[in-house]
Amino acid sequence: MKQIILTGDRPTGRLHVGHYVGSLMERVALQNSGKYDEIYIMIADAQALTDNAEHPEKVRQNIKQVALDYLSCGIDPEKSNIFIQSRVPELTELSFYYMNLVTVSRVQRNPTVKAEIQQKGFETSVPLGFFCYPVSQAADITAFRATAVPAGEDQMPMLEQCKEIVHKFNEVYGETLTEPQIVLPSNKACLRLPGLDGKAKMSKSLGNCIYLSDDEETVRKKIMSMFTDPTHLKVSDPGHVEGNPVFIYLDAFCKPEYFPEFLPEYQSLDELKAHYTKGGLGDIKVKKFLNSVLQAELAPVRERRQAWEKRLPELTDILKEGCRVAREKAESTLADVRKAMRIDYFENGALLGE
Ligand code: ATP
Ligand code: MG
Repeated sequence: MKQIILTGDRPTGRLHVGHYVGSLMERVALQNSGKYDEIYIMIADAQALTDNAEHPEKVRQNIKQVALDYLSCGIDPEKSNIFIQSRVPELTELSFYYMNLVTVSRVQRNPTVKAEIQQKGFETSVPLGFFCYPVSQAADITAFRATAVPAGEDQMPMLEQCKEIVHKFNEVYGETLTEPQIVLPSNKACLRLPGLDGKAKMSKSLGNCIYLSDDEETVRKKIMSMFTDPTHLKVSDPGHVEGNPVFIYLDAFCKPEYFPEFLPEYQSLDELKAHYTKGGLGDIKVKKFLNSVLQAELAPVRERRQAWEKRLPELTDILKEGCRVAREKAESTLADVRKAMRIDYFENGALLGE
């Protein structure tokens, strides 16, 4: 069986370091592993419109930003197809058929949908399109016959829902669709990076992010003012590392070689954590170290972004070609789906013959 990746992001803002550790880093590693036959990376503009219908210009502007973020993280257009969701209308038709295989109460039980409805303050006025997005996501994944979906932990319920649709479709219409597997980051701290404000998730919609495109000074300011342990008031106070975003970010980004380079008086993160827990280690010192670590991680990303910003016409060509290749693949899956459902009326005289 071919090994195929489908993954993507909503163009609701520039991408942040949560995306980087939660999904982008894994994508780049999988891309460069040479183990995948096809890789599709989708800029989910149609999905972004489900909760931004009044702001299509915001979605439009962020398509370019997200594409630049991909390239600056090391997504290579020679190896991965970057495409725009709405340019592949076959995805919409697939969603329409899948909607008949899912009940309203099943979507209502989806914990990510539940949490997002609450976070966005939709309560009783959820747009129907937004409510259906898990189904449209199943269409995106299956249209490419994806076997692997590198994503953050919040996507687990979406993958479960997708698998159920695959099983139901195959049961009703015969073996047609491929079952995907989620690929989560192996580092626990990267599953769901918290926000600068200590909230459970760094998210474009919550405005608590360090963006990949932030300049050095902006990153420094954000780190120096970020939330830490509220009970750690004096340097001598014992502190908590559990649930403390500064230490969670260090868990996510720190490599052993950063100690001799930026904080030689400590050997390891465990030693730093032990000192903080005992008391006698100030937040400012830890934040300064985190700043050095993050700047070192982001420097190559910034450099690549600057280079790509000078090559914008090429970016349009990359996206156009990505859309062309993606559409071809989705068309072929849709043809199989129509055939399985026996709604391929004009193929092989099916309508008039029987
Ligand atoms: P929005 O608020 O518009 O939904 P978002 O910040 O949640 O934006 P998405 O485009 O929905 O970003 O998510 C893209 C991918 O990044 C998904 O795979 C998601 O799991 C992952 N991701 C997003 N935020 C984080 C985070 N804080 N930590 C780890 N992974 C994340
Ligand atoms: Mg999201």
